[in-house]
Amino acid sequence: MAKMQFKAESKRLLDMMIHSIYTQKEIFLRELISNSSDAIDKIYYRALTDENLTFNKEDYYIKVSVDKDSRTLKLSDTGIGMTREELENNLGVIAKSGSLAFKNENEAKDGFNIIGQFGVGFYSAFMVADKVTVISRALGSDEAFKWESEGADGYTIEPAGKDAVGTEIILKIKENTEDEKYDEFLEEYRLRTIIKKYSDFIRYPIKMDVTRQRPVEGKENEYEDYTEEQTINSMVPIWRRNKNELTDEDYQNFYFEKRYGFDKPLKHVHISADGAVVYNAILFIPENTPFDYYTKEYEKGLELYSNGVLIMEKCGDLLPDYFSFVKGMVDSEDLSLNISRELLQHDRQLKLIAKNIKNRIKSTLLSLQKDERDNYEKFYKAFGRQLKFGAYSDFGANKDDLQDLLMFHSSKENRLVSLAEYVSRMPEDQKYIYYATGESVERIEKLPQTELVADKGYEMLYFTDDIDEFAIKTIVKYKDKEFRNVSSGDLGIESDESAKAAEAEQNENKDLFEAMAGILGDKVKAVKASKRLKSHPVCLSSEGELTIEMEKVLRSMPN
Ligand code: ADP
Ligand code: MG
Repeated sequence: MAKMQFKAESKRLLDMMIHSIYTQKEIFLRELISNSSDAIDKIYYRALTDENLTFNKEDYYIKVSVDKDSRTLKLSDTGIGMTREELENNLGVIAKSGSLAFKNENEAKDGFNIIGQFGVGFYSAFMVADKVTVISRALGSDEAFKWESEGADGYTIEPAGKDAVGTEIILKIKENTEDEKYDEFLEEYRLRTIIKKYSDFIRYPIKMDVTRQRPVEGKENEYEDYTEEQTINSMVPIWRRNKNELTDEDYQNFYFEKRYGFDKPLKHVHISADGAVVYNAILFIPENTPFDYYTKEYEKGLELYSNGVLIMEKCGDLLPDYFSFVKGMVDSEDLSLNISRELLQHDRQLKLIAKNIKNRIKSTLLSLQKDERDNYEKFYKAFGRQLKFGAYSDFGANKDDLQDLLMFHSSKENRLVSLAEYVSRMPEDQKYIYYATGESVERIEKLPQTELVADKGYEMLYFTDDIDEFAIKTIVKYKDKEFRNVSSGDLGIESDESAKAAEAEQNENKDLFEAMAGILGDKVKAVKASKRLKSHPVCLSSEGELTIEMEKVLRSMPN
């Protein structure tokens, strides 16, 4: 049987493209600039093998110009251009990508940075324009052609005049309607912001005429507008630069420029990974807690770039919740993007990167703890609570990643210490890691329950944060040492004799203890004699899993 060809209703297809692929209209500029960058890249790659062709970097750029009166936005590039056939094939056929074909034909050469692959990005122009005109002259040709379309109704191609090789794309920006606003795409400032946001690291200059003011000569307090051509993008991403050439200040500037935070970052990590997945990343540990950090509004995530083009502003999958304070970016050539280039197709590579990054953050924090204790304490003050929540959540699944990062106030050192430090100092006869809970260090120090442990000369950890004890209960043991609240019934300290003595005392004064228990009613479970007290007449203690402090926390939680 003869095979039938699928037919696409191109009008409907284009309509779908325009209205359902992208979530944000501003993306059109990213797509058009990416195409121009690809077109310049193609000349660059040609020049690598064609000795008649030289590539002078200064000759290659992208220019964005606006004319408010005619509502036009123009993008010109000095790239490879398109022949009549190419205009027809690449712009006339939806989902046909000349750039993908170029990459495939030239497979042998590495270092390809070409961005295009799906053959749909160009049509995003119709999200904001009701007419798109493309005037192009291909490399090696002395003719130019004009492609023009108002969207669904098809397109025309006719000869045109163009002096230099390259492409010019002219968008007639739509009029504002009640629901949809388009005027912003004629605003210099807005365009500049969009270019910075998505295309800052395109490797060729993106130029724009920017209106500025200057004083009028000879006249006081009078200013006139003038235009000046400016390059908008930074071009060389800091993460592609050699680490040895970069100073702390460069990283700090990047942090401010990217508005990751207003503080001075405590630490940066620059990763250039060349293993199973190739990527570059710059991560920052902030110094201060963002104002909304411990609220639902805070959104974790790193910026995600594919070949220097921003794909996602906050990729949450790159960070575990317990490291949600980390700021920064990841750039990779190895990501499988979906057609809108706003999302990832499947996340095998992303998972690998995330795992890698998690380990790097952990090792960075550990070395901060070891070598820069003051900075680690600053960090811990800002984000320690998050680490403790992390240890507690998911039934302790992350404890291996987190337990060494935790710190608590030590009764002996009178400062924060890690569990490793505590355990390393434990005398041989000490069975447990002791801790005491309370509102503040001062309060805990007055607790009668701490007396016996202190008397034995053992170190105690003071828990002053609600979450502390929950975190520790989830960790259960550290280096085989169990944790023990100083107010628990069995401290592993009392000798058999003192236990016997207490029991004898209990029996002798049976009536007294019963009377006390009777008066206290159901406020207590039992009243017992104890040999654990020294200077205090009485203390509260608990039996079983929940300690007094935990009961308090649980009772104060809504539901
Ligand atoms: P993609 O970039 O994913 O290939 P597009 O729809 O953005 O898809 O572009 C389709 C094709 O049109 C490109 O692959 C390229 O061959 C061609 N093209 C688009 N813009 C330009 C340009 N400025 N210069 C040269 N060729 C271009
Ligand atoms: Mg494209």
